[in-house]
Amino acid sequence: MPHEIANFLASVNEAALQCASLCRKVQSEMLASMDKSDSSPVTIADYGCQALIHRAILLNYPDHALISEEGSDHLRKNAAEGEISAIVRLVSGALGSEVTIDDICGWIDHRGPNNSEYTWSIDPIDGTKGFLRRAQYAVAIGLLQGSTPVGGTLVCPSLPYDLNDDNSPVGVLISASGPGTARKFAIDAELSASISSNASGDPASMRVLGSVESAHGDPALVTGMMEASKITGGFVRYDSQAKYAVIAMGGAEMYVRPRSKPDYRENIWDHVAGVAICEAAGAVVSDVDGKALDFGHGDKLLENRGVLATANPLAHKLAIDGIKATENA
Ligand code: AMP
Ligand code: MG
Repeated sequence: MPHEIANFLASVNEAALQCASLCRKVQSEMLASMDKSDSSPVTIADYGCQALIHRAILLNYPDHALISEEGSDHLRKNAAEGEISAIVRLVSGALGSEVTIDDICGWIDHRGPNNSEYTWSIDPIDGTKGFLRRAQYAVAIGLLQGSTPVGGTLVCPSLPYDLNDDNSPVGVLISASGPGTARKFAIDAELSASISSNASGDPASMRVLGSVESAHGDPALVTGMMEASKITGGFVRYDSQAKYAVIAMGGAEMYVRPRSKPDYRENIWDHVAGVAICEAAGAVVSDVDGKALDFGHGDKLLENRGVLATANPLAHKLAIDGIKATENA
């Protein structure tokens, strides 16, 4: 029921805003990273954000399940002493009350029951590499009912509220809880508006989005698809689910994420929030073969080949046909 979903999201959006300010503090005061076992970077901001979001879900919906990126083990083993005191200070500051590192680790590791109707999927900082290079990143909070994305919030602290205005405030929260409900809010100003994806089917003006990290996709396949489908609006590369946010705001028509290597399967926390928001804004989402995304396999999209988000059905067909033509050439 969309109203119930909207209430669920409303009770985590305050935590999402606390995350934006925590991320900005880390960027301005103490930007440093630790390496995870797959050599991807993680920061105290990733852990602080996951703690704040999980805490809000635990307090409001203890019977909901969570599938999220980070665990506290790595934080405890790898953080320097100064980083532990910093995360305690930052999370305490965000909440306005003193918490301990044990509180924070308990929230990070909260996963709820495993038979819940609702499952949240959280990437506390999606695009940590973008965060470290002070480019795009997103705090991503997605909600599944069964295996269907039904709601999501993306906070993009470095993305303009108005993509067409050079003087726009920077920092936007986007949230959606079903068809027609997608809205954007400026993080630092009293501004909000309903958003929708672009309905134009003209390939000449279509803009395509992909990852900054070439190893997270297959840029040659994307440019091949553009040539095959005569798409000439440009290929822009952003880190994180900010790509989904831009599609939902009408700022681009395709986000193409081919499988980066044959055995790679996408993490669901990289997609649930973005997919829910894009679909609510009128976009069409599938994998690169046009198959519906199947979120019914735990933390990975085991049965899909990459991900494709397009602003409308015409853009979707152009992307699928162009990928097929390029792969079969
Ligand atoms: P993006 O900023 O769009 O490049 O996506 C960032 C996400 O890519 C991270 O949250 C990782 O979960 C994910 N990722 C890491 N390695 C790979 C890979 N080899 N292929 C695709 N995605 C990856
Ligand atoms: Mg991520």
